[in-house]
Amino acid sequence: MDRSYPPKDPRAHPEGALPPPRPEAIARFWRHEGEPGIRGYRAATVCRRGHLQEADLVVPPEYLVLGDSDLGKCSRCGADVLGACQECGLRIRGLPISHAHNKDTDLALPKFCDRCGHPHPWSTRQDRIFELENLLDQQDIDEADKDVVREHLARLQALDPIDDPEGKEARKRWGAIIKRAPELLKGAGSKAAETLIDIGVRRALGLD
Ligand SMILES: [Zn+2]
Ligand SMILES: [Zn+2]
Repeated sequence: MDRSYPPKDPRAHPEGALPPPRPEAIARFWRHEGEPGIRGYRAATVCRRGHLQEADLVVPPEYLVLGDSDLGKCSRCGADVLGACQECGLRIRGLPISHAHNKDTDLALPKFCDRCGHPHPWSTRQDRIFELENLLDQQDIDEADKDVVREHLARLQALDPIDDPEGKEARKRWGAIIKRAPELLKGAGSKAAETLIDIGVRRALGLD
């Protein structure tokens, strides 16, 4: 497959002549100026359910560059294939440039965007709770308060929304978390928590 961009021969493209590239999309796509470079990462494409398609792209997937984000469907599950963070447009972190083996199987699929912290669609409830626990460790609050927050997070992790149809327990626990760790659900934490907290609960707690 010809991975050069723009393709050397536009007529080789299955859909015919290509429209002009979008420089702003390319500028958003790499984390650092000049990446790919020795400290950078290649780009990955991944389906919404987390099936890895490619892990070693050194140019943006061409459809993304062209403003048509259609990278096709996953051959394993039929879900849309994504080529960038859905929030900020950064590439999905693939293999390190310096990676010697260059095998897709060596990639630990990233769960969060490494620029904006937004969870990728394949990250699970558990992943997002883990992220909040990591952020909790950095909070400037008492260890005793951290322990209480950890306990609430563990209960929320296990809470099945079917057992809490009106969101009473969720509201109680998230409310208690905000009381003990007022900064936890701000910044990066707000992104990890976004899809964990039901809209009704968010409104009740004044998070929106
Ligand atoms: Zn899939
Ligand atoms: Zn992002």
